[in-house]
Amino acid sequence: MTAVTLNPGIQNRNLPSYLDPQHLGPWATYLEQVERVTPYLGQLAYWIDSLKRPQRILIVDCPIRLDDGSVAHFEGYRVQHNTSRGPGKGGVRFHQNVNLSEVMALSAWMTIKHAAVNLPYGGAKGGIRVDPRTLSITELERLTRRYTSEIGFIIGPDKDIPAPDVNTNPQVMAWMMDTYSMNTGRTATGVVTGKPVNLGGSLGRADATGRGVFVAATEAMKQVGVPLEGARVAVQGFGNVGGAAARIFHDHGAKVVAIQDVTGTIFSSAGIDPKAALEFLRRTGKIVGFPGTETLEPHELWTVECEVLIPAALEGVITEKTAPLITARVVVEGANGPTTPAADDILLEKGVLVVPDVLANAGGVTVSYFEWVQDFSSFFWTEDEINARLDRIMKEAFSSLWEVSQRHKVSLRTAAYIVACTRVLEAHALRGIYP
Ligand code: NAD
Repeated sequence: MTAVTLNPGIQNRNLPSYLDPQHLGPWATYLEQVERVTPYLGQLAYWIDSLKRPQRILIVDCPIRLDDGSVAHFEGYRVQHNTSRGPGKGGVRFHQNVNLSEVMALSAWMTIKHAAVNLPYGGAKGGIRVDPRTLSITELERLTRRYTSEIGFIIGPDKDIPAPDVNTNPQVMAWMMDTYSMNTGRTATGVVTGKPVNLGGSLGRADATGRGVFVAATEAMKQVGVPLEGARVAVQGFGNVGGAAARIFHDHGAKVVAIQDVTGTIFSSAGIDPKAALEFLRRTGKIVGFPGTETLEPHELWTVECEVLIPAALEGVITEKTAPLITARVVVEGANGPTTPAADDILLEKGVLVVPDVLANAGGVTVSYFEWVQDFSSFFWTEDEINARLDRIMKEAFSSLWEVSQRHKVSLRTAAYIVACTRVLEAHALRGIYP
């Protein structure tokens, strides 16, 4: 047989990512988190296997015509992890490292998050394995539309409702909504959330996740006695979540001392004005070089002296290696899955309070829920109403999970999993197994 040599780019594109042993990480993290909580579930543990496998996995090929006339294929996913408590819901990620394990884990974390905060949804997530920076805007639109068409038969306002995640935004949601609407013959605003406001989007959605991170962080800071005024904050990720969180902390008197994004890491002991840094990023395409700051090596972020650390980029960054370096009193997980279970143990031992992703970043999906409700009723609320409801839900969720963590003497993450798994498995047990 003649050996066929493929060019490395094509080889990489054709290799099913879930066969790549390098990419088993996030799903393994989720499984370990579920294992840890099982002893607290009593008789409901009988049903635990239903949480250890996604209900539905769809892998799609998305061919698109590039601007130069050639055709490129991209691998897309939509995973519905569990719909016992309601329709699936979860974001869509465009990233070159997206793979099945990651999307499975992200969909499962959505199941846990919705149940922990008591939103009437199951968990889902989607993504395309693509570096969107390599595509023109028209190529990105074609890819989004093809992906939406391919997953169209399993999404819908009462089935599964996508939203933005890493590298997707209101414009991408507008294309998804339009494609789904064209394919179904009616304008269905409720099929996605995180849309532009004049297309059925909600006021307050853009800042919602960052705002929720801020509310959860301040509740946690009260518990460990760290005053907000002057608190030093370090942020990894300066997008939707990290950008808004940094801005809101700054506006409330905290000092943002370090910011890291994919382009680099900046530090200033005197504090960075996130609004000006975002403007600088918009103008120059990077944060490094922002006046008044020094540049750090990426790994130095973890050593920055601070009271609050907000990982708000990607998963698996706080590990056995980085956790021992952390000086913060509170770690607030803006990102999904940033802390490995081994790192969790290290932080617990060091007395660092970790506000887990399923609580800390639930503000985004909470306002997505408000958006979905507003779309169904075609009646829209003011931004003040939305922010007030968001603050109330975040504070109530924090205090009820805090109470569970104190009662069982467990971390906030384990408390969130106890509450969430109980809610999901109760629903599952009540519904029974079909047929
Ligand atoms: P985004 O695309 O708006 O921003 C991502 C940020 O991370 C960017 O600043 C990017 O430069 C930075 N980044 C990427 N790779 C990095 C690296 N290797 N090192 C350092 N920084 C890096 O994405 P987002 O919507 O802000 O999402 C960030 C995280 O928050 C993800 O884990 C996502 O799942 C989670 N999340 C997002 C929302 C939401 O509403 N957007 C809600 C809940 C959770």
